Amino acid sequence: MDKKLNFFSESIINEVGNTPLIKLKKASEITKCNILGKAEFLNPGQSIKDRAALYILKEFEKEKFFDNKVVVEGTGGNTGIGLTIIGSAMGYKTVIVMPNDQSKEKIETLRHLGAEVVLTEKAPYTDKKNYIQLSKQIAKDRKAIWANQFDNLANRKAHIETTSEEIWQQTQGKVDAFICSIGTGGTLAGNFIGLKNKKKGIKIYCADPYGSGMFSYIRKGVSKAAYASITEGIGQSRITKNIEGVDFDGAFKVSDQNALNIIYDLIREEGLYLGPSSGINIGGAIKLAKYMGPNKTIVTVLCDYANRYSNKIFNKDYLASRNLIYPDWL
Ligand code: PMP
Repeated sequence: MDKKLNFFSESIINEVGNTPLIKLKKASEITKCNILGKAEFLNPGQSIKDRAALYILKEFEKEKFFDNKVVVEGTGGNTGIGLTIIGSAMGYKTVIVMPNDQSKEKIETLRHLGAEVVLTEKAPYTDKKNYIQLSKQIAKDRKAIWANQFDNLANRKAHIETTSEEIWQQTQGKVDAFICSIGTGGTLAGNFIGLKNKKKGIKIYCADPYGSGMFSYIRKGVSKAAYASITEGIGQSRITKNIEGVDFDGAFKVSDQNALNIIYDLIREEGLYLGPSSGINIGGAIKLAKYMGPNKTIVTVLCDYANRYSNKIFNKDYLASRNLIYPDWL
């Protein structure tokens, strides 16, 4: 497909999506498949979550006019960044509630973007200190809009209407399988619905970090979670509204070390500078390719840049404390 050169853009909100599909050379070579990564780090907010953020705001605006243009959201950070960037362009202010163990790079970025950042301790979903519950309460107290990405179906609609359409066109219908991890599940469920509508036999798999409940949920119907991975924005124990009723074809577990090795190799060998969730996704794509056999076209998602996690993934002390091996050039 020819890349169109746009000389003029009315607004940053028109620049969400339409990301390239990049061939992952080593992953393809070792599996004899065609493994392709959707370059979501090229979105204006530098992550996959711009798509959901834009749809959430647009769908709200379809429903009603808001006098109080304040959006509150609980997030690992990327949805907050997307909502703040797109929100600024659409006239909204944001209040972003995050667990305090998320990377300081994401927290700083949000502050630089002018978001009000509220940090809360890590707590189970049902606890009122939990970042999602707290964001809901703040939205109520301030009579503001609660984005509610986990259970708001505008999230997966973004992927039904944009991501899966793009993948279909970019592969000219040759895509055999799609795999990625679950945070809210918007990306995986949206692509499940969008791509299965186009090709019944396509396989849609989940790549799950260790400690997340999705692997056991998809394989055995029960979510068993333990919270261990260093990855951020992915891993889930709850069946969110975005994944409820979606019957995924299967799941693979990917360890943190496996994901890190993949993202370190990609930096040196392919010029791709990706965050850990992309490593989980590519690790899952390699496992799926080995399972499906050669000559398949498998698409996954390159969610964001590595620099959102520098203090973790390039920090020798941090990695040693988690018994993880760091790259030899550090
Ligand atoms: N990777 C990263 C880095 C993320 O921030 C997120 C979203 N939290 C995901 C993957 C997962 O996307 P989704 O919410 O659509 O499941």
